[in-house]
Amino acid sequence: MAAARAFVRGVRLGTYSIVRSRSLIFNSVHRRGISACIDPSIGLSDEQKEFQKVAFDFAANEMAPHMAEWDQKEIFPVDAMKKAAQLGFGGIYVNPDVGGSGLSRLDTSIIFEALSTGCVSTTAYISIHNMCAWMIDTFGNKEQREKYCPDLCSMEKFASYCLTEPGSGSDAASLLTSAKLQGDHYILNGTKAFISGGGDTDVYVVMCRTGGKGPKGISCLVVEKETPGLSFGKKEKKVGWNSQPTRAVIFEDCAVPVTNRLGAEGEGFSIAMKGLNGGRINIASCSLGAAHASVILARDHMCVRKQFGETLSNSQFLQFKLAEMATKLVASRLLVRQAAVALQEGRPDAVSLCSMAKLFVTDECFSICNQALQIHGGYGYLKDYAVQQYVRDIRVHQILEGTNEVMRMIIARSLLTES
Ligand SMILES: Cc1cc2nc3c(=O)[nH]c(=O)nc-3n(C[C@H](O)[C@H](O)[C@H](O)COP(=O)(O)OP(=O)(O)OC[C@H]3O[C@@H](n4cnc5c(N)ncnc54)[C@H](O)[C@@H]3O)c2cc1C
Repeated sequence: MAAARAFVRGVRLGTYSIVRSRSLIFNSVHRRGISACIDPSIGLSDEQKEFQKVAFDFAANEMAPHMAEWDQKEIFPVDAMKKAAQLGFGGIYVNPDVGGSGLSRLDTSIIFEALSTGCVSTTAYISIHNMCAWMIDTFGNKEQREKYCPDLCSMEKFASYCLTEPGSGSDAASLLTSAKLQGDHYILNGTKAFISGGGDTDVYVVMCRTGGKGPKGISCLVVEKETPGLSFGKKEKKVGWNSQPTRAVIFEDCAVPVTNRLGAEGEGFSIAMKGLNGGRINIASCSLGAAHASVILARDHMCVRKQFGETLSNSQFLQFKLAEMATKLVASRLLVRQAAVALQEGRPDAVSLCSMAKLFVTDECFSICNQALQIHGGYGYLKDYAVQQYVRDIRVHQILEGTNEVMRMIIARSLLTES
């Protein structure tokens, strides 16, 4: 409450003097009428509309009021995420027999889009956690699935995805973290960089080298936090995504049971990439939520801010800008949903479509949020206004889970090699 009050602020807007609080701002995003043309529920089934509403309500009530505080104080909101898990959001596309919700990739996208209107950073972490739970559910054996998935789906335990290293980012298949077989354990040595949740999470899904150079020498191990030889770097200071910690994950003679390997030796890179196909739709969906919220914030600001004797909404230049933002938002949403369906159906265009969605949507949604900030003028640059946080939080979506340059490589490779 005190925190919410702290954000209450009187702001002079031309001839208008209005008091805006974060909750007021978010009430406008979550509760007031949305023009049909950008309504994210249009075209969905009744069931999808139901859980979309649950996600929007959760975003409005449990996330949005805290979004700024989590950002400024760098709070990893464990309790809020556990509440999200009670709604089934800890393992959305994990099978129900191990505690998951068993929903489709499209359903998942709808949920992440709605949640991220309340806090992009927290939703993005939840999406990475979901990706890890799905990897264990899909590539794990019976014992592994039963051991890890129920606690991950309830978010009693949290997961991190460990692929990137200081020397291997875009060229992920060049990773060096070694896993040498010794009896019934692998001995891990190496460092993972930029790990979301690192240090605060319990389960690390780690890609490491058990064989020779290249992707075929990589395996995937589940490493538990308490394992001797596992430690963490300092918490990174970031532009956005501040409600989730990012740290290096360090392995020094870290002994991991062979029984913790997902799939066969050498399958780790393929498992990592399959996880990322869904991850890319999820991250794009988080960008959609930010862009959706930003379009509404920009529209509302245009309706109250007066300059040159009239509201900004009377400027045809700004009307056109808003129309373009809305058009790009809807085009982005269509592409994400198309990619989600392709992945769900295992179609041959799925990998390319996931990359196209990640490339197009994270670029366009960043531009939408940035333009919404511009429409707010100087107020958009103030932390009292949510729009700047959406801009900061989604900037990184153009970089991680494969940079947007890497997305272009994947798409071009498919165009040039497939007949
Ligand atoms: C906040 C945050 C959270 C993250 N979370 C995770 C996580 O949980 N797990 C994880 O494994 N990783 C994570 N990452 C790492 C992220 O996936 C990498 O940062 C990303 O893959 C890029 O790698 P890099 O930073 O080493 O950049 P580099 O690979 O060094 O690339 C630098 C630039 O060069 C471009 N580039 C590189 N090669 C080419 C080329 N051949 N042609 C054209 N352009 C090229 C890139 O696109 C990029 O723009 C996270 C990163 C951040 C910032």
